[in-house]
Amino acid sequence: MTKQRKVVYDVLRSKRDHPTAQMIFERTQKELPTVSLATIYNCLEALVSHDVVKQVNVDREPSRYCPNLAEHGHFHNKQTGDVIDINFKPDVNLAEFLDLPEGAVIEDLELNIKGFLK
Ligand SMILES: [Zn+2]
Repeated sequence: MTKQRKVVYDVLRSKRDHPTAQMIFERTQKELPTVSLATIYNCLEALVSHDVVKQVNVDREPSRYCPNLAEHGHFHNKQTGDVIDINFKPDVNLAEFLDLPEGAVIEDLELNIKGFLK
């Protein structure tokens, strides 16, 4: 891992608020003042392609990035714009909960829920 990638990864892990590339850029600049936004995109692309970081897309908004590799979903709070991790309750078998085609084996799951908190 290059130094820049390491810093970007550390930035992502230090505050798990699913930042956009722009937010990561601003945070990384504190550590690497001369880093460019293009470099941030390159680092993120490499981290995503190596399955170290997940890319989270909501509609046409800029992608957000998540270093949590445990199986989880995302809750998008439409009032605040926050994206938080939601974990699956233990003992929940998704194959029982979803009407999957016969023989389907879940290898990867993306669960994005939008709403607000009352
Ligand atoms: Zn996440």
